[in-house]
Amino acid sequence: MRDNTLDLIGNTPLVRLAGPSEEAGCDIFGKCEFTNPGASVKDRAALYIVRDAEARGELKPGGTIVEGTAGNTGIGVSLVANALGYRTIIVMPDNQSKEKMDTLRALGAQLVTVPPTKFADPNHFVHTSRRLAEETDGAIWANQFDNTANRKAHIDGTAKELWAQMDGRIDGFTCAAGTGGTIAGVGMGLKEFDENVLIALTDPHGAALYSYYAHGELEAEGSSVAEGIGQGRITGNLEGAPIDTQFRISDEEGLHWVARLLREEGLCLGLSSGINVAGAVALGRLLKEQGRESPRVATILCDTGFRYLSTLYDPAWLEEKGLPVFDWLQADR
Ligand code: PMP
Repeated sequence: MRDNTLDLIGNTPLVRLAGPSEEAGCDIFGKCEFTNPGASVKDRAALYIVRDAEARGELKPGGTIVEGTAGNTGIGVSLVANALGYRTIIVMPDNQSKEKMDTLRALGAQLVTVPPTKFADPNHFVHTSRRLAEETDGAIWANQFDNTANRKAHIDGTAKELWAQMDGRIDGFTCAAGTGGTIAGVGMGLKEFDENVLIALTDPHGAALYSYYAHGELEAEGSSVAEGIGQGRITGNLEGAPIDTQFRISDEEGLHWVARLLREEGLCLGLSSGINVAGAVALGRLLKEQGRESPRVATILCDTGFRYLSTLYDPAWLEEKGLPVFDWLQADR
């Protein structure tokens, strides 16, 4: 029983993933963030950012929250805002899934879409959202990329939950970064319990963090269709993140795990979850190579696949992107 609807955010279940565990030869666990009310990990950051703005006296009753987002943070912010009596303005690049845009409108957010562009462009969704916040009376800018209330949600919440759920027996943690709030916050939180927990960044292609952590230079290679992940700079949330090692995972590898988790384990997930699971398998293997006995690795199952029916689960879309079509969808055609 929870006392109010906002208490439904967090305290998500942890599940052992049979296929990935078998593949890695050790136990791989997934944190089921798709069970949050907004169906993604970003509800946690949204709640912390809003509570922090209230505590600092910036967000006043009846105020407006403005945010730039790939979608999931916007959905989290809208739910939290509805529960607390705030308005929401969400700025999103127009190449993100239609389901996220429809969801935001359904939740009552004012949705502004902009063409995708590089971060240096003043019309980038992040800068557009900052300007809109400045121009709107009684508005705050959530600023999930640089506002460290985001990672605090994972230090106080996700990391503590993982430690308790795994009985303090956890050898490694990995996930990809969008804002970096999850990897940095969980990394910091777990290292407070035990500094020997190995923290690995799992980077998609097209992002610059793999090369940054491998050899100090922000350099991207290739591209990815994964939504919500893939960062080109050291955000405020990534500053001081305790990253011990890094993997670069392709969309094909991520889709392999999205398909297997769906068909073999009955989980319908987004691509960032598949990429995270591929990273977790790589981390499990690395820990074994390093001589850890029966290592236990955790990762994040970030959001529900129902958010991507018009993309990842649509054969025509996959074909257009040059990606393999899931065989069970192929059979229907
Ligand atoms: N996966 C999805 C689907 C997301 O929307 C996000 C958030 N941008 C992430 C992963 C990454 O989380 P974070 O912002 O905490 O790095």
